[in-house]
Amino acid sequence: MDGTRDVVAVVVAVDSPAGRIATTIDELTTHLPSTGQQLVCPICSARSWPCPPFHDAAHRVIAVGVRLADLVPVDLHPQLWPPATPQQQPWPTEEVSNG
Ligand SMILES: [Zn+2]
Repeated sequence: MDGTRDVVAVVVAVDSPAGRIATTIDELTTHLPSTGQQLVCPICSARSWPCPPFHDAAHRVIAVGVRLADLVPVDLHPQLWPPATPQQQPWPTEEVSNG
């Protein structure tokens, strides 16, 4: 194994939230770090992760209501949502607060 993440194609309706941003999801996935290289984008090799293209794609995903966490492998979640610094999360939690 070279650490490259396996991917799977999913069929969704074109007019569904995920269908409307299918190319964005493809772009987002392209910029996911390889297994064991959680801080390095394989495309933007000189940049740390999350890289600007991932950042832009992530915000487009969130904007249409698709959960970013469902598109990112669990081992990368701590990079996006550090458990020790909840006030400094770089990404929206996507959890509705009733408070
Ligand atoms: Zn990148």
